[in-house]
Amino acid sequence: GANLGNDNELKALADAIAASAQAWTAVPLVPGGKSGAATINVTDPADRRRIVGTWQPADAALVDKALANAVAAQPEWDRLPAAGRAKILEHTADLLEANRGELIALCVREAGKTIPDAIAEVREAVDFCRYYAAQARKMLGHPEALPGPTGESNQLFLNGRGVFAAISPWNFPLAIFMGQVVAALVTGNAVIAKPAEQTNLIAYRATQFLHEAGVPAGVLQFLPGDGATVGAALCKDSRIAGVVFTGSTETARAINRALAARDAAIAVLIAETGGQNALIADSSSLPEQVVKDAVSSAFYSAGQRCSCARILFVQEDIADKVIAMLAGAMDELTVGEPRLLSTDIGPVIDEDAKKILDDHAARMDREARSIKVAKLDASASHGTFFAPRAYEISSLAQLPREVFGPVLHVLRWKASNLDKVIADINATGYGLTLGVHSRIDTTIEQIAKGVKVGNCYVNRNQIGAVVGVQPFGGEGLSGTGPKAGGPHYLARFVTERTLTINTTAAGG
Ligand code: NAD
Repeated sequence: GANLGNDNELKALADAIAASAQAWTAVPLVPGGKSGAATINVTDPADRRRIVGTWQPADAALVDKALANAVAAQPEWDRLPAAGRAKILEHTADLLEANRGELIALCVREAGKTIPDAIAEVREAVDFCRYYAAQARKMLGHPEALPGPTGESNQLFLNGRGVFAAISPWNFPLAIFMGQVVAALVTGNAVIAKPAEQTNLIAYRATQFLHEAGVPAGVLQFLPGDGATVGAALCKDSRIAGVVFTGSTETARAINRALAARDAAIAVLIAETGGQNALIADSSSLPEQVVKDAVSSAFYSAGQRCSCARILFVQEDIADKVIAMLAGAMDELTVGEPRLLSTDIGPVIDEDAKKILDDHAARMDREARSIKVAKLDASASHGTFFAPRAYEISSLAQLPREVFGPVLHVLRWKASNLDKVIADINATGYGLTLGVHSRIDTTIEQIAKGVKVGNCYVNRNQIGAVVGVQPFGGEGLSGTGPKAGGPHYLARFVTERTLTINTTAAGG
Protein backbone atom coordinates (compact mmCIF):
# COMPACT_ATOMS: atom_id res chain seq x y z
CA GLY A 1 0.00 0.00 0.00
CA ALA A 2 0.87 3.66 -0.02
CA ASN A 3 3.71 4.66 2.22
CA LEU A 4 1.84 7.42 3.99
CA GLY A 5 1.63 8.56 7.52
CA ASN A 6 5.07 9.51 8.79
CA ASP A 7 5.19 12.86 10.57
CA ASN A 8 7.06 14.72 7.85
CA GLU A 9 4.68 13.61 5.18
CA LEU A 10 1.69 14.47 7.35
CA LYS A 11 3.06 17.94 7.92
CA ALA A 12 3.78 18.43 4.22
CA LEU A 13 0.24 17.32 3.38
CA ALA A 14 -1.31 19.63 5.93
CA ASP A 15 0.76 22.58 4.69
CA ALA A 16 -0.14 21.84 1.07
CA ILE A 17 -3.85 21.63 1.87
CA ALA A 18 -3.79 24.87 3.84
CA ALA A 19 -1.90 26.70 1.08
CA SER A 20 -3.96 25.36 -1.83
CA ALA A 21 -6.63 27.49 -3.40
CA GLN A 22 -7.34 24.89 -6.09
CA ALA A 23 -10.97 24.70 -7.16
CA TRP A 24 -12.33 21.59 -8.82
CA THR A 25 -15.12 21.18 -11.37
CA ALA A 26 -17.28 18.14 -12.02
CA VAL A 27 -19.58 17.69 -14.99
CA PRO A 28 -21.43 14.61 -16.21
CA LEU A 29 -19.25 12.30 -18.30
CA VAL A 30 -21.64 10.91 -20.90
CA PRO A 31 -20.29 10.51 -24.44
CA GLY A 32 -22.38 12.46 -26.95
CA GLY A 33 -24.44 14.16 -24.25
CA LYS A 34 -24.52 17.40 -22.33
CA SER A 35 -26.60 18.55 -19.40
CA GLY A 36 -28.62 21.73 -19.51
CA ALA A 37 -28.73 22.06 -15.71
CA ALA A 38 -27.18 24.97 -13.84
CA THR A 39 -23.97 24.39 -11.88
CA ILE A 40 -23.90 24.23 -8.09
CA ASN A 41 -21.21 25.48 -5.71
CA VAL A 42 -19.49 23.11 -3.31
CA THR A 43 -18.51 24.65 0.01
CA ASP A 44 -16.10 23.27 2.61
CA PRO A 45 -17.92 21.61 5.54
CA ALA A 46 -15.27 23.01 7.88
CA ASP A 47 -15.75 26.59 6.69
CA ARG A 48 -18.78 27.35 4.59
CA ARG A 49 -17.15 30.53 3.26
CA ARG A 50 -14.61 28.48 1.31
CA ILE A 51 -15.62 27.34 -2.18
CA VAL A 52 -14.13 23.96 -3.11
CA GLY A 53 -15.50 23.86 -6.65
CA THR A 54 -18.61 23.49 -8.73
CA TRP A 55 -20.56 20.59 -10.18
CA GLN A 56 -23.27 20.24 -12.77
CA PRO A 57 -26.13 17.77 -12.30
CA ALA A 58 -27.41 15.58 -15.11
CA ASP A 59 -30.85 16.30 -16.56
CA ALA A 60 -33.47 13.75 -17.64
CA ALA A 61 -32.32 13.59 -21.28
CA LEU A 62 -28.80 12.81 -20.16
CA VAL A 63 -29.96 9.90 -17.99
CA ASP A 64 -31.51 8.35 -21.07
CA LYS A 65 -28.40 8.97 -23.18
CA ALA A 66 -26.17 7.40 -20.52
CA LEU A 67 -28.32 4.28 -20.41
CA ALA A 68 -28.25 3.95 -24.20
CA ASN A 69 -24.46 4.38 -24.24
CA ALA A 70 -24.00 1.78 -21.51
CA VAL A 71 -26.18 -0.81 -23.26
CA ALA A 72 -24.19 -0.31 -26.47
CA ALA A 73 -20.77 -0.46 -24.81
CA GLN A 74 -21.21 -3.37 -22.40
CA PRO A 75 -20.98 -6.46 -24.67
CA GLU A 76 -17.53 -5.64 -26.00
CA TRP A 77 -16.24 -4.88 -22.50
CA ASP A 78 -17.64 -8.19 -21.26
CA ARG A 79 -15.89 -10.07 -24.09
CA LEU A 80 -12.46 -8.79 -23.00
CA PRO A 81 -10.45 -11.36 -21.05
CA ALA A 82 -10.84 -10.75 -17.31
CA ALA A 83 -7.09 -10.28 -17.01
CA GLY A 84 -7.33 -7.27 -19.32
CA ARG A 85 -9.92 -5.64 -17.10
CA ALA A 86 -7.93 -6.56 -13.98
CA LYS A 87 -4.87 -4.85 -15.44
CA ILE A 88 -6.83 -1.64 -15.89
CA LEU A 89 -7.81 -1.74 -12.20
CA GLU A 90 -4.20 -2.25 -11.19
CA HIS A 91 -3.19 0.67 -13.36
CA THR A 92 -5.95 2.72 -11.70
CA ALA A 93 -4.51 1.85 -8.26
CA ASP A 94 -1.14 3.19 -9.41
CA LEU A 95 -2.76 6.41 -10.61
CA LEU A 96 -4.59 6.87 -7.29
CA GLU A 97 -1.31 6.45 -5.44
CA ALA A 98 0.53 8.80 -7.74
CA ASN A 99 -2.18 11.43 -7.19
CA ARG A 100 -2.84 10.75 -3.53
CA GLY A 101 -1.94 14.29 -2.45
CA GLU A 102 -4.76 15.72 -4.53
CA LEU A 103 -7.22 13.01 -3.44
CA ILE A 104 -6.38 13.49 0.24
CA ALA A 105 -6.85 17.25 -0.17
CA LEU A 106 -10.23 16.64 -1.79
CA CYS A 107 -11.36 14.32 1.02
CA VAL A 108 -10.42 17.00 3.55
CA ARG A 109 -11.86 19.95 1.64
CA GLU A 110 -15.01 18.48 0.10
CA ALA A 111 -15.96 15.87 2.74
CA GLY A 112 -14.49 17.55 5.85
CA LYS A 113 -12.34 14.50 6.68
CA THR A 114 -9.40 14.75 9.00
CA ILE A 115 -6.06 14.15 7.36
CA PRO A 116 -5.58 10.66 8.90
CA ASP A 117 -9.10 9.70 7.77
CA ALA A 118 -8.39 11.03 4.29
CA ILE A 119 -5.17 9.01 4.09
CA ALA A 120 -7.02 5.86 5.13
CA GLU A 121 -9.69 6.59 2.55
CA VAL A 122 -7.23 6.73 -0.34
CA ARG A 123 -5.49 3.59 0.89
CA GLU A 124 -8.80 1.70 0.98
CA ALA A 125 -9.67 2.79 -2.55
CA VAL A 126 -6.29 1.52 -3.77
CA ASP A 127 -6.81 -1.75 -1.90
CA PHE A 128 -10.23 -2.28 -3.51
CA CYS A 129 -8.71 -1.93 -6.99
CA ARG A 130 -5.92 -4.42 -6.32
CA TYR A 131 -8.09 -6.88 -4.38
CA TYR A 132 -10.94 -7.08 -6.91
CA ALA A 133 -8.41 -7.30 -9.74
CA ALA A 134 -6.85 -10.34 -8.04
CA GLN A 135 -10.27 -11.87 -7.32
CA ALA A 136 -11.34 -11.39 -10.92
CA ARG A 137 -8.22 -13.09 -12.26
CA LYS A 138 -8.93 -16.09 -10.02
CA MET A 139 -12.66 -16.26 -10.55
CA LEU A 140 -13.10 -15.19 -14.15
CA GLY A 141 -9.74 -16.00 -15.67
CA HIS A 142 -10.96 -19.12 -17.47
CA PRO A 143 -14.17 -21.11 -17.74
CA GLU A 144 -14.49 -23.80 -15.12
CA ALA A 145 -14.58 -27.34 -16.54
CA LEU A 146 -17.26 -29.38 -14.79
CA PRO A 147 -17.34 -33.17 -14.53
CA GLY A 148 -19.79 -34.97 -16.82
CA PRO A 149 -20.44 -38.26 -18.60
CA THR A 150 -18.05 -39.47 -21.29
CA GLY A 151 -18.84 -37.96 -24.63
CA GLU A 152 -19.87 -34.65 -23.12
CA SER A 153 -18.00 -31.53 -22.11
CA ASN A 154 -19.42 -29.11 -19.56
CA GLN A 155 -18.12 -25.66 -18.90
CA LEU A 156 -19.22 -22.87 -16.63
CA PHE A 157 -18.72 -19.28 -17.76
CA LEU A 158 -19.17 -16.14 -15.70
CA ASN A 159 -20.29 -13.00 -17.51
CA GLY A 160 -21.28 -9.47 -16.64
CA ARG A 161 -25.00 -8.99 -16.08
CA GLY A 162 -25.28 -5.85 -18.18
CA VAL A 163 -25.61 -2.29 -16.94
CA PHE A 164 -25.11 -1.52 -13.23
CA ALA A 165 -26.05 1.68 -11.46
CA ALA A 166 -23.53 2.42 -8.69
CA ILE A 167 -25.14 4.68 -6.09
CA SER A 168 -22.80 5.75 -3.34
CA PRO A 169 -22.82 7.78 -0.09
CA TRP A 170 -20.76 10.80 0.94
CA ASN A 171 -19.21 9.27 4.06
CA PHE A 172 -16.59 7.26 2.16
CA PRO A 173 -16.69 9.35 -1.00
CA LEU A 174 -13.65 7.75 -2.59
CA ALA A 175 -13.35 4.27 -1.05
CA ILE A 176 -16.97 3.15 -1.36
CA PHE A 177 -17.39 4.87 -4.72
CA MET A 178 -14.35 3.02 -6.07
CA GLY A 179 -15.23 -0.28 -4.41
CA GLN A 180 -18.66 -0.35 -6.05
CA VAL A 181 -17.52 0.84 -9.45
CA VAL A 182 -14.48 -1.39 -9.85
CA ALA A 183 -16.32 -4.52 -8.67
CA ALA A 184 -19.00 -3.97 -11.31
CA LEU A 185 -16.46 -3.11 -14.00
CA VAL A 186 -14.02 -5.95 -13.47
CA THR A 187 -16.84 -8.50 -13.74
CA GLY A 188 -17.77 -7.25 -17.22
CA ASN A 189 -20.57 -4.80 -16.53
CA ALA A 190 -21.02 -1.28 -17.82
CA VAL A 191 -21.43 1.18 -14.95
CA ILE A 192 -23.35 4.40 -14.51
CA ALA A 193 -21.97 6.02 -11.36
CA LYS A 194 -24.31 8.26 -9.36
CA PRO A 195 -22.33 9.54 -6.37
CA ALA A 196 -23.75 11.38 -3.37
CA GLU A 197 -24.74 15.00 -4.02
CA GLN A 198 -22.28 16.18 -1.35
CA THR A 199 -19.12 14.62 -2.83
CA ASN A 200 -19.19 14.83 -6.61
CA LEU A 201 -15.76 16.37 -7.00
CA ILE A 202 -13.96 13.39 -5.48
CA ALA A 203 -16.01 10.93 -7.50
CA TYR A 204 -15.35 12.88 -10.68
CA ARG A 205 -11.58 12.74 -10.20
CA ALA A 206 -11.80 9.00 -9.44
CA THR A 207 -13.77 8.47 -12.66
CA GLN A 208 -11.16 10.38 -14.62
CA PHE A 209 -8.41 8.13 -13.25
CA LEU A 210 -10.38 5.03 -14.28
CA HIS A 211 -10.77 6.43 -17.79
CA GLU A 212 -7.10 7.36 -17.93
CA ALA A 213 -6.21 3.80 -16.91
CA GLY A 214 -8.19 2.43 -19.86
CA VAL A 215 -11.88 2.01 -19.00
CA PRO A 216 -13.78 3.12 -22.14
CA ALA A 217 -15.92 6.25 -21.80
CA GLY A 218 -19.18 4.43 -22.59
CA VAL A 219 -18.40 1.60 -20.16
CA LEU A 220 -18.05 3.92 -17.16
CA GLN A 221 -20.17 7.07 -17.15
CA PHE A 222 -20.38 9.69 -14.44
CA LEU A 223 -23.91 10.89 -13.83
CA PRO A 224 -24.11 13.28 -10.88
CA GLY A 225 -27.43 14.48 -9.55
CA ASP A 226 -29.98 14.28 -6.77
CA GLY A 227 -30.97 10.88 -5.50
CA ALA A 228 -34.64 11.68 -5.84
CA THR A 229 -34.30 12.65 -9.51
CA VAL A 230 -31.24 11.17 -11.23
CA GLY A 231 -30.87 8.21 -8.85
CA ALA A 232 -34.56 7.39 -8.99
CA ALA A 233 -34.67 7.75 -12.79
CA LEU A 234 -31.89 5.16 -13.13
CA CYS A 235 -33.56 2.68 -10.80
CA LYS A 236 -36.88 2.71 -12.58
CA ASP A 237 -35.37 2.14 -16.03
CA SER A 238 -35.71 -1.36 -17.46
CA ARG A 239 -32.20 -1.22 -18.95
CA ILE A 240 -30.62 -1.51 -15.48
CA ALA A 241 -29.61 -5.10 -14.67
CA GLY A 242 -28.33 -4.35 -11.20
CA VAL A 243 -27.86 -1.67 -8.59
CA VAL A 244 -24.98 -1.58 -6.16
CA PHE A 245 -25.94 0.78 -3.38
CA THR A 246 -24.54 2.03 -0.09
CA GLY A 247 -26.51 4.49 1.99
CA SER A 248 -29.48 4.59 4.29
CA THR A 249 -31.92 1.76 4.82
CA GLU A 250 -34.80 4.03 3.71
CA THR A 251 -33.16 4.74 0.37
CA ALA A 252 -32.41 1.05 -0.17
CA ARG A 253 -36.12 0.35 0.29
CA ALA A 254 -37.06 3.06 -2.20
CA ILE A 255 -34.64 1.60 -4.74
CA ASN A 256 -35.98 -1.89 -4.13
CA ARG A 257 -39.53 -0.66 -4.79
CA ALA A 258 -38.49 1.15 -7.98
CA LEU A 259 -36.72 -1.92 -9.32
CA ALA A 260 -39.65 -4.18 -8.47
CA ALA A 261 -42.17 -1.90 -10.18
CA ARG A 262 -40.45 -2.19 -13.55
CA ASP A 263 -41.91 -4.32 -16.29
CA ALA A 264 -38.51 -5.85 -16.82
CA ALA A 265 -36.16 -8.65 -15.80
CA ILE A 266 -35.66 -8.95 -12.02
CA ALA A 267 -32.67 -6.81 -11.15
CA VAL A 268 -29.99 -7.58 -8.61
CA LEU A 269 -29.75 -5.19 -5.65
CA ILE A 270 -26.58 -5.24 -3.60
CA ALA A 271 -27.24 -2.90 -0.66
CA GLU A 272 -25.09 -1.88 2.29
CA THR A 273 -27.16 0.22 4.65
CA GLY A 274 -27.37 1.63 8.14
CA GLY A 275 -26.70 0.21 11.58
CA GLN A 276 -27.69 0.50 15.22
CA ASN A 277 -24.37 -0.71 16.56
CA ALA A 278 -23.88 -1.81 20.14
CA LEU A 279 -20.81 -2.22 22.28
CA ILE A 280 -21.26 -4.53 25.28
CA ALA A 281 -18.83 -4.28 28.19
CA ASP A 282 -19.07 -6.61 31.18
CA SER A 283 -17.55 -6.18 34.62
CA SER A 284 -14.47 -8.23 33.73
CA SER A 285 -13.49 -5.76 31.01
CA LEU A 286 -10.84 -3.09 31.42
CA PRO A 287 -12.57 0.31 31.81
CA GLU A 288 -9.64 2.21 30.23
CA GLN A 289 -9.82 0.00 27.16
CA VAL A 290 -13.62 0.18 26.94
CA VAL A 291 -13.56 3.98 27.09
CA LYS A 292 -10.71 4.34 24.61
CA ASP A 293 -12.41 2.07 22.09
CA ALA A 294 -15.87 3.56 22.64
CA VAL A 295 -14.54 7.08 22.12
CA SER A 296 -12.67 6.28 18.93
CA SER A 297 -15.55 4.27 17.51
CA ALA A 298 -18.41 6.59 18.47
CA PHE A 299 -16.86 10.03 17.94
CA TYR A 300 -13.95 9.87 15.51
CA SER A 301 -14.81 10.56 11.88
CA ALA A 302 -17.54 12.69 13.51
CA GLY A 303 -19.50 9.48 14.05
CA GLN A 304 -20.14 9.36 10.33
CA ARG A 305 -19.10 5.77 9.74
CA CYS A 306 -21.81 3.16 9.39
CA SER A 307 -19.75 0.95 11.75
CA CYS A 308 -19.63 3.44 14.66
CA ALA A 309 -20.70 2.30 18.11
CA ARG A 310 -23.95 4.12 18.97
CA ILE A 311 -24.97 2.27 22.15
CA LEU A 312 -22.67 1.30 24.99
CA PHE A 313 -24.13 -1.40 27.21
CA VAL A 314 -22.07 -1.35 30.37
CA GLN A 315 -22.54 -3.79 33.23
CA GLU A 316 -23.76 -1.98 36.31
CA ASP A 317 -20.84 -2.70 38.69
CA ILE A 318 -18.41 -0.79 36.44
CA ALA A 319 -20.92 1.66 34.96
CA ASP A 320 -20.21 4.66 37.19
CA LYS A 321 -16.49 4.29 36.66
CA VAL A 322 -16.82 3.91 32.87
CA ILE A 323 -19.19 6.87 32.62
CA ALA A 324 -16.85 9.10 34.64
CA MET A 325 -13.89 8.06 32.51
CA LEU A 326 -15.89 8.60 29.34
CA ALA A 327 -16.70 12.15 30.37
CA GLY A 328 -13.03 12.75 31.13
CA ALA A 329 -11.89 11.34 27.80
CA MET A 330 -14.37 13.55 25.95
CA ASP A 331 -12.73 16.61 27.53
CA GLU A 332 -9.55 15.68 25.70
CA LEU A 333 -11.08 15.65 22.21
CA THR A 334 -10.18 18.43 19.80
CA VAL A 335 -13.12 19.14 17.53
CA GLY A 336 -12.33 21.63 14.82
CA GLU A 337 -10.63 22.45 11.54
CA PRO A 338 -9.67 19.16 9.88
CA ARG A 339 -6.70 20.75 8.10
CA LEU A 340 -4.94 20.97 11.45
CA LEU A 341 -3.02 17.88 12.52
CA SER A 342 -4.01 18.61 16.12
CA THR A 343 -7.68 18.03 15.27
CA ASP A 344 -9.26 14.72 16.25
CA ILE A 345 -12.75 15.29 14.90
CA GLY A 346 -13.95 17.45 12.04
CA PRO A 347 -17.34 18.77 10.93
CA VAL A 348 -20.44 16.86 9.93
CA ILE A 349 -21.18 16.77 6.23
CA ASP A 350 -23.81 19.48 5.82
CA GLU A 351 -26.56 21.64 7.34
CA ASP A 352 -29.15 18.87 6.98
CA ALA A 353 -27.00 16.42 8.92
CA LYS A 354 -26.35 19.02 11.60
CA LYS A 355 -30.06 19.80 11.91
CA ILE A 356 -30.96 16.13 12.39
CA LEU A 357 -28.29 15.84 15.09
CA ASP A 358 -29.36 19.07 16.81
CA ASP A 359 -32.95 17.81 16.90
CA HIS A 360 -31.82 14.48 18.32
CA ALA A 361 -29.72 16.23 20.98
CA ALA A 362 -32.68 18.42 21.94
CA ARG A 363 -34.82 15.32 22.37
CA MET A 364 -32.12 13.54 24.38
CA ASP A 365 -31.71 16.64 26.58
CA ARG A 366 -35.37 16.24 27.49
CA GLU A 367 -35.56 12.46 27.73
CA ALA A 368 -32.13 11.27 28.82
CA ARG A 369 -29.33 12.19 31.20
CA SER A 370 -26.52 14.16 29.60
CA ILE A 371 -23.11 12.72 30.46
CA LYS A 372 -20.99 15.15 28.48
CA VAL A 373 -20.98 17.56 25.58
CA ALA A 374 -17.47 17.91 24.15
CA LYS A 375 -16.27 21.43 23.50
CA LEU A 376 -15.68 22.89 20.06
CA ASP A 377 -12.29 24.35 19.22
CA ALA A 378 -12.08 28.02 18.20
CA SER A 379 -11.28 26.82 14.66
CA ALA A 380 -14.80 25.36 14.43
CA SER A 381 -16.70 28.60 14.07
CA HIS A 382 -17.60 28.74 10.38
CA GLY A 383 -18.44 25.16 9.51
CA THR A 384 -21.17 22.63 10.15
CA PHE A 385 -19.78 21.33 13.42
CA PHE A 386 -21.64 19.26 15.95
CA ALA A 387 -20.10 18.71 19.36
CA PRO A 388 -19.78 15.02 20.27
CA ARG A 389 -21.98 14.06 23.18
CA ALA A 390 -22.89 11.13 25.39
CA TYR A 391 -26.20 10.40 27.10
CA GLU A 392 -27.38 7.81 29.53
CA ILE A 393 -30.66 6.31 28.35
CA SER A 394 -32.89 3.78 30.04
CA SER A 395 -34.19 1.78 27.09
CA LEU A 396 -33.34 1.07 23.46
CA ALA A 397 -36.87 2.19 22.63
CA GLN A 398 -35.54 5.75 23.01
CA LEU A 399 -33.55 5.19 19.80
CA PRO A 400 -35.95 4.14 17.10
CA ARG A 401 -33.49 4.73 14.26
CA GLU A 402 -29.85 5.21 13.37
CA VAL A 403 -28.34 8.50 14.59
CA PHE A 404 -25.61 9.24 12.05
CA GLY A 405 -23.20 11.38 14.00
CA PRO A 406 -21.01 11.60 17.12
CA VAL A 407 -23.55 10.65 19.79
CA LEU A 408 -23.05 7.75 22.19
CA HIS A 409 -25.95 6.35 24.21
CA VAL A 410 -25.07 4.50 27.39
CA LEU A 411 -27.24 1.82 28.98
CA ARG A 412 -26.58 -0.11 32.19
CA TRP A 413 -27.21 -3.83 32.35
CA LYS A 414 -27.28 -6.46 35.11
CA ALA A 415 -25.46 -9.79 34.83
CA SER A 416 -28.76 -11.66 34.98
CA ASN A 417 -30.02 -9.69 31.98
CA LEU A 418 -27.48 -10.55 29.32
CA ASP A 419 -29.98 -12.57 27.32
CA LYS A 420 -32.32 -9.61 27.29
CA VAL A 421 -29.54 -7.26 26.15
CA ILE A 422 -28.81 -9.62 23.27
CA ALA A 423 -32.50 -9.95 22.41
CA ASP A 424 -32.97 -6.15 22.52
CA ILE A 425 -30.08 -5.58 20.14
CA ASN A 426 -31.43 -8.20 17.74
CA ALA A 427 -34.88 -6.65 18.00
CA THR A 428 -33.60 -3.44 16.41
CA GLY A 429 -33.55 -5.42 13.16
CA TYR A 430 -30.17 -3.96 12.21
CA GLY A 431 -27.13 -6.19 12.06
CA LEU A 432 -23.99 -4.31 11.15
CA THR A 433 -21.29 -4.16 13.85
CA LEU A 434 -20.94 -5.28 17.44
CA GLY A 435 -18.22 -4.61 19.99
CA VAL A 436 -17.60 -6.90 22.94
CA HIS A 437 -15.32 -6.12 25.87
CA SER A 438 -14.90 -8.98 28.33
CA ARG A 439 -12.21 -11.27 29.68
CA ILE A 440 -14.56 -14.21 30.15
CA ASP A 441 -14.50 -16.57 27.19
CA THR A 442 -17.97 -17.97 27.72
CA THR A 443 -19.46 -14.46 27.89
CA ILE A 444 -17.66 -13.42 24.73
CA GLU A 445 -18.97 -16.51 23.00
CA GLN A 446 -22.52 -16.01 24.26
CA ILE A 447 -22.60 -12.43 22.99
CA ALA A 448 -20.73 -12.95 19.73
CA LYS A 449 -22.91 -15.90 18.78
CA GLY A 450 -26.12 -14.39 20.11
CA VAL A 451 -26.12 -11.05 18.32
CA LYS A 452 -26.79 -11.31 14.61
CA VAL A 453 -24.33 -8.92 12.99
CA GLY A 454 -22.02 -8.90 10.03
CA ASN A 455 -18.90 -7.69 11.85
CA CYS A 456 -18.05 -8.40 15.49
CA TYR A 457 -14.98 -6.90 17.21
CA VAL A 458 -13.79 -8.32 20.54
CA ASN A 459 -11.60 -6.40 23.02
CA ARG A 460 -10.53 -3.92 20.38
CA ASN A 461 -11.63 -0.87 18.53
CA GLN A 462 -15.02 -1.37 16.90
CA ILE A 463 -13.86 -0.09 13.56
CA GLY A 464 -11.97 -1.58 10.72
CA ALA A 465 -12.96 -2.92 7.38
CA VAL A 466 -9.61 -3.77 5.92
CA VAL A 467 -10.02 -5.05 2.38
CA GLY A 468 -9.35 -8.79 2.25
CA VAL A 469 -8.87 -8.92 6.05
CA GLN A 470 -12.20 -7.84 7.56
CA PRO A 471 -14.70 -8.06 4.71
CA PHE A 472 -17.45 -5.62 5.66
CA GLY A 473 -21.24 -5.69 5.57
CA GLY A 474 -24.33 -6.44 7.59
CA GLU A 475 -27.59 -8.32 7.59
CA GLY A 476 -31.23 -7.56 8.27
CA LEU A 477 -31.90 -3.81 7.97
CA SER A 478 -28.15 -3.31 7.47
CA GLY A 479 -27.84 -4.83 4.04
CA THR A 480 -28.01 -7.72 1.64
CA GLY A 481 -24.37 -8.77 1.53
CA PRO A 482 -22.12 -10.12 0.13
CA LYS A 483 -19.39 -8.42 2.10
CA ALA A 484 -17.39 -5.70 0.39
CA GLY A 485 -13.69 -6.47 0.26
CA GLY A 486 -14.39 -10.17 0.78
CA PRO A 487 -13.90 -13.27 -1.35
CA HIS A 488 -17.58 -13.59 -2.32
CA TYR A 489 -18.35 -10.00 -3.25
CA LEU A 490 -17.89 -10.31 -7.01
CA ALA A 491 -20.22 -13.30 -7.28
CA ARG A 492 -23.38 -11.20 -7.33
CA PHE A 493 -22.12 -9.02 -10.18
CA VAL A 494 -21.98 -11.92 -12.64
CA THR A 495 -24.37 -14.22 -14.38
CA GLU A 496 -23.47 -17.90 -14.80
CA ARG A 497 -23.75 -19.67 -18.13
CA THR A 498 -23.03 -23.31 -18.80
CA LEU A 499 -22.06 -24.76 -22.15
CA THR A 500 -22.68 -28.46 -22.70
CA ILE A 501 -21.26 -30.03 -25.87
CA ASN A 502 -21.84 -33.51 -27.19
CA THR A 503 -18.25 -34.32 -28.09
CA THR A 504 -19.12 -37.56 -29.98
CA ALA A 505 -21.19 -35.73 -32.59
CA ALA A 506 -18.37 -33.61 -33.97
CA GLY A 507 -17.52 -34.48 -37.53
CA GLY A 508 -14.06 -35.99 -37.88
P1 NAD B 1 -28.55 8.24 1.47
O1 NAD B 1 -29.36 7.00 1.46
O2 NAD B 1 -29.21 9.52 1.78
O3 NAD B 1 -27.87 8.47 0.05
C1 NAD B 1 -27.07 7.46 -0.57
C2 NAD B 1 -27.14 7.62 -2.07
O4 NAD B 1 -28.46 7.30 -2.53
C3 NAD B 1 -26.84 9.03 -2.57
O5 NAD B 1 -26.07 8.94 -3.75
C4 NAD B 1 -28.24 9.56 -2.90
O6 NAD B 1 -28.23 10.56 -3.88
C5 NAD B 1 -28.92 8.32 -3.42
N1 NAD B 1 -30.39 8.35 -3.38
C6 NAD B 1 -31.20 8.99 -2.50
N2 NAD B 1 -32.50 8.75 -2.79
C7 NAD B 1 -32.51 7.93 -3.88
C8 NAD B 1 -33.55 7.31 -4.63
N3 NAD B 1 -34.84 7.50 -4.33
N4 NAD B 1 -33.21 6.52 -5.66
C9 NAD B 1 -31.92 6.30 -5.96
N5 NAD B 1 -30.90 6.85 -5.28
C10 NAD B 1 -31.19 7.66 -4.24
O7 NAD B 1 -27.32 7.95 2.46
P2 NAD B 1 -26.14 8.94 2.87
O8 NAD B 1 -26.70 9.98 3.79
O9 NAD B 1 -25.40 9.39 1.66
O10 NAD B 1 -25.16 7.96 3.68
C11 NAD B 1 -25.31 7.68 5.04
C12 NAD B 1 -25.96 6.32 5.24
O11 NAD B 1 -25.17 5.32 4.60
C13 NAD B 1 -26.04 5.88 6.68
O12 NAD B 1 -27.29 5.28 6.92
C14 NAD B 1 -24.93 4.84 6.81
O13 NAD B 1 -25.12 3.90 7.83
C15 NAD B 1 -24.97 4.21 5.47
N6 NAD B 1 -23.71 3.54 5.14
C16 NAD B 1 -23.64 2.17 5.18
C17 NAD B 1 -22.45 1.50 4.89
C18 NAD B 1 -22.35 0.00 4.94
O14 NAD B 1 -21.36 -0.54 4.47
N7 NAD B 1 -23.32 -0.71 5.49
C19 NAD B 1 -21.32 2.25 4.55
C20 NAD B 1 -21.41 3.63 4.51
C21 NAD B 1 -22.62 4.26 4.79
